Amino acid sequence: MNLHDASKLSHADWQAKAAELKKTAETRLFIGGEFVDAAEGGTFDNICPVDGSIINKCAAGTEADINKAVTIAKASFKSGEWSRLAPRDRMAIMYKWADLIAQNGAELALMDTIDMGKPITDMVEVDIPMCIDTIQYFAECIDKITGTVTATEYDVMSTVLREPIGVVGCISPWNYPLLMALWKIAPSLAAGNSTILKPAEQSPLSCNRVAELFVEAGGPSGALQVVNGMGEQAGQALARHMEVSKISFTGSTEVGKLIHVYSGESNMKKVSLECGGKGPQVFCEDLEGELLDRAVQTAIDGIFFNMGEVCSAGSRLIVHSKIHDEFVAKFIEMGKGAYICGDPLDPSVNLGPLVDHESQSRVLGLIETAKSEGGKVEFGGAAPAGELQKGAYIIPTMITAVNSNDTIAQLEAFGPVVAVIKVDSDDEAVEVANNSIYGLQGSVWTDNYRKAMRFAREIECGTFLVNSYEEGDMTQPFGGFKQSGNAKDMCFESLLSYTNSKAVWFRLN
Ligand code: NAD
Repeated sequence: MNLHDASKLSHADWQAKAAELKKTAETRLFIGGEFVDAAEGGTFDNICPVDGSIINKCAAGTEADINKAVTIAKASFKSGEWSRLAPRDRMAIMYKWADLIAQNGAELALMDTIDMGKPITDMVEVDIPMCIDTIQYFAECIDKITGTVTATEYDVMSTVLREPIGVVGCISPWNYPLLMALWKIAPSLAAGNSTILKPAEQSPLSCNRVAELFVEAGGPSGALQVVNGMGEQAGQALARHMEVSKISFTGSTEVGKLIHVYSGESNMKKVSLECGGKGPQVFCEDLEGELLDRAVQTAIDGIFFNMGEVCSAGSRLIVHSKIHDEFVAKFIEMGKGAYICGDPLDPSVNLGPLVDHESQSRVLGLIETAKSEGGKVEFGGAAPAGELQKGAYIIPTMITAVNSNDTIAQLEAFGPVVAVIKVDSDDEAVEVANNSIYGLQGSVWTDNYRKAMRFAREIECGTFLVNSYEEGDMTQPFGGFKQSGNAKDMCFESLLSYTNSKAVWFRLN
């Protein structure tokens, strides 16, 4: 079912579809264009975060499955069936793939919702349209990749060619299961690489279906394969494989560091990392009226959307003391009831559970630590009572009186928890914003564009927004500084990162 029809479904319709999908979704590994059991026969439980029940058992790939997929990928790459396909033919297949995703939008949306608890309306209105955009953007770029002829002596022609890298391994997280995977596999495929994806074990379903649709669109079966399984097993085997030439990873900073180690201990494969964040938003003393209201509303959405499980979430609000009390009062008034926990299959619900109960306990623990360090919980701070108790829910939480070195200001919560830090000057705001191991996304809110430019230059992050947050499109590079990573997703630069540049020197005389 397409997204237009999906947008008309009721809660009961989605519940019926979910019950059916739990029985029919493909849970095996997608290797060589076929669904197969794991070589060692292992499975893992795919747990529903709404009630802790087992959705289904999924094949747990191990090193043996990765080896098999890499052998197929390498043969496919060498054959040229994808790597040497004329750019416009590759483009046509990718466009068809995007169309098939659009036609199957409801089913794909539902897979991510039942796996990780994201509200179905967000899947239908945000994630799936962005997935389609992602594939279309990189498809459009395919024949815009050009090499160069460099300036050299008269009897030499010196050229630089752009070539696909070979076998590329992609490892993705669960917070935007399909979208984060496509930010990796779409540019990798567009560049002509044979690509193997290891999705997060919390969200194994949608990537299987998307890979199947790639083959249905005419993509060769060796060009895109999906090996689900545990990170320490399937993920590590992929990152350590001697025939994998690049790993593109999105996930925690902790695992990102391991990926570097695996690369160094194996074949020095290229490593692209998109890791954690602790997004600072600075609110300057001049804010008032409509701009202040917009700033507060954007800050609310910037932390509570997607249950706060967003790497770039604006989780640190750095507020000038002159407007601090008014800002906090408005945030409480507008934010307390803005996101209400409920069944993510209900189209009116905008806050689902966290991905699992482990995350829920971690975030609740972090809130307790914040309190013990002097933070004041203005609202939230607990799991909801009543019928939602079985789920991994957290009520949206605001904590004020936070200091820049407090645990809640330093650790990525990856939940709907915002920390407010009061500052007395712009200099202090910059210092607080940069007091983090992360540098993914930040913003400033002010009517003074000269001041805004100063913050843009001085805050260390890959994406900076002025009087806005969580905006952007496919043209915009997305990726962090410091321990947020070393790569860019989306954008043309990302596509080029899935190519090698090769210098070719012709001696003509
Ligand atoms: P995670 O690091 O636990 O897992 C990410 C992926 O790595 C999963 O597929 C997992 O199976 C795999 N993995 C785990 N251990 C591994 C190992 N030893 N070897 C190889 N692979 C391994 O992260 P997560 O909890 O799934 O995702 C949340 C994190 O992702 C947050 O820190 C968030 O900020 C980050 N994230 C970053 C971006 C970005 O663009 N910067 C986007 C989304 C999420």
